[in-house]
Amino acid sequence: MKFTPVIGLEVHSQLKTQTKIFCSCSTAFGSPPNTHTCPVCLGMPGVLPVLNKKVVDYTIKMALATHCTVQKESRFARKNYFYPDLPKGYQISQYELPIATDGHLDLEINKQALRIGITRIHMEEDAGKLMHDPDRPVSRVDLNRAGVPLMEIVSEPDIRSPEVAGEYLRRLRAILRYLDISDGNMEEGSFRCDANVSIMPEGSTNFGTRTEVKNLNSFKHVEKAITYEIARQKEILLDGGEVIQETRLWQPDKGRTVSMRGKEDAHDYRYFPDPDLLPLVIDDQWIAGMQSQMPELPAQRRERYITELGLSSADAAVLTGSRALSDYFEACLCLLNNPKLVTNWIMGDLLGLLNARGLKINHSPISPEKLVGLLELLGKDVISGKIAKTVFEAMAETGLPAKTIVEENELVQVSDSSAIDPIIDAIINDHPEEVKRYQGGQKKLMGFFVGQVMKQTKGKANPKVVNEMLQKKLG
Ligand code: ADP
Ligand code: MG
Ligand code: ZN
Repeated sequence: MKFTPVIGLEVHSQLKTQTKIFCSCSTAFGSPPNTHTCPVCLGMPGVLPVLNKKVVDYTIKMALATHCTVQKESRFARKNYFYPDLPKGYQISQYELPIATDGHLDLEINKQALRIGITRIHMEEDAGKLMHDPDRPVSRVDLNRAGVPLMEIVSEPDIRSPEVAGEYLRRLRAILRYLDISDGNMEEGSFRCDANVSIMPEGSTNFGTRTEVKNLNSFKHVEKAITYEIARQKEILLDGGEVIQETRLWQPDKGRTVSMRGKEDAHDYRYFPDPDLLPLVIDDQWIAGMQSQMPELPAQRRERYITELGLSSADAAVLTGSRALSDYFEACLCLLNNPKLVTNWIMGDLLGLLNARGLKINHSPISPEKLVGLLELLGKDVISGKIAKTVFEAMAETGLPAKTIVEENELVQVSDSSAIDPIIDAIINDHPEEVKRYQGGQKKLMGFFVGQVMKQTKGKANPKVVNEMLQKKLG
C-alpha cells in the first residue's frame, strides 16, 4: 500500500528591529542575562505595551513578497499558558484576525513548478530563555529575549515531500534576507520551523491525523525529521494502528522523533483580544509606502538574469539562491560588464574554493574587486585561461591582487610571434615522426604540438597564437 505525505510548515522568524515589539528595550544578542529588560517585557502589573511600527513595516513587506492580502484591520490576542520563561502568563500574538492572509510561494523542483499556499502571517513576541545549571538542580531565567519580535508564517498543507519542504524553507529564507528583515539563521534560532506531518493512502483526498515536530534547527534536520516521521506513521498504519495527534520532539543525535505532549487545542490557550492594544489599522497609504520600498526579490532577479543577462536558468537559480551570493555577483558586474565570464568563474572556481574550505560567500578570501582584477587580465589576453586558474589559486592563498601575482611570477602571456617562432621550429625539428603523421592526416596531433609549446613556455604562450602559427608551419 502506498501513502502520500501531507506537510504544512509553521515558520517563526525573528525580525531585525533595533528594539522589542512592545517596549524600547534593545534586541541585541549576546548581552549579559536580563540587561535588556524593563517593566513592560518583565510583565510587571499595570504597564502598557506600545506597538513598534517597524515590526508592522517588516511584516507588511513579507506579506507583499508572498502575495498575501494585508488586512486593513487586525488584532493582537493573548495566548494564555504558564511557563517560567513567560512572566506575564500570556504571549501577545495574533489569532482570529492576523495581519496578512492567503498568499503563496512559487517553487521549482526538478524543473517542475509548484505553488505552496500561505495561510497566514502574524506578529507575536518571543518568550525568555531558561538556562539549566548542569551541576545543580537549578534553572535560571534570562528575559533579554522576552518581547523580541517574531513573525509567524503558516503554510497550507500543500507540501508533499521532505525535499519540497526544504526548498520552501530555503526560498522563504532567501526572501527574508533580500528584504533585510531577518537574519534567517536556523542554527542561531532566528529562523525556526515546526513541521506538521501526516500521511494518507495514495489517491485519497482525506488528510490523515497529523503530528507536529519541533526542535528542527537546520535545513538538513527538517528534511531528515520529516522523512523519519513519514516512515514512522507508515509503519503504524500498516500495522493496523492509528496515528495519535501530538507534538513530537526531533532528537538530532538519535535521528528520531519522540512524543513530547498531547496536541493542545486552540481553546486550551483561552485566546482573547488583548485589551491593552488597539486594533491595528493599516491604510492603503501605509501599504503603498512599503510597496515603494520593496527591493528586487529573488524570483524577479532570477528572471532578469535569464532574460537580460542571458544566463541559463540553472545558473540564475544558484546565483539568486542566496542574497549574499547574488550581491557578490552584482558587485562583480558593476566592475566588469561580462555576465557570462563572471558567472563561469563564480559557479566554477569560486564556489569550488568556498565549498572546499567550508566558507560562506561573505567570507570569501577573494573579493569581487579581486576576482574582477583577474578576469580583466584574462579578458585583455595578458594571461591565458590556464594561467588564470593558477593565479586564482595563488590569490586564494595569499590574498594578493592578480596583477601583483602575475608580475612577481612573470606569468604574462606571450603573444609575440617572434618569441614563439624559434620554439616552434625547434619542436618541429625534434619530432619529425609526429610531423609526418600529422601531415599524413592525423590532425589530432595538433594537440600534441600545442602541448609541447605550452610545456616549453611554462604555459605562458598564447594558445590562440600558437595554434595559428603551428597550422601555418605544418601546413
Ligand atoms: P496549530 O496552531 O494547532 O498548529 P494550525 O491550524 O495553525 O494549527 O495549522 C498548523 C499547520 O498544520 C499548518 O501549516 C497546516 O498547513 C498544517 N496542517 C493542517 N492539517 C494537516 C494535516 N492533516 N497534515 C499535515 N499538515 C497539516
Ligand atoms: Mg502549530
Ligand atoms: Zn522591555
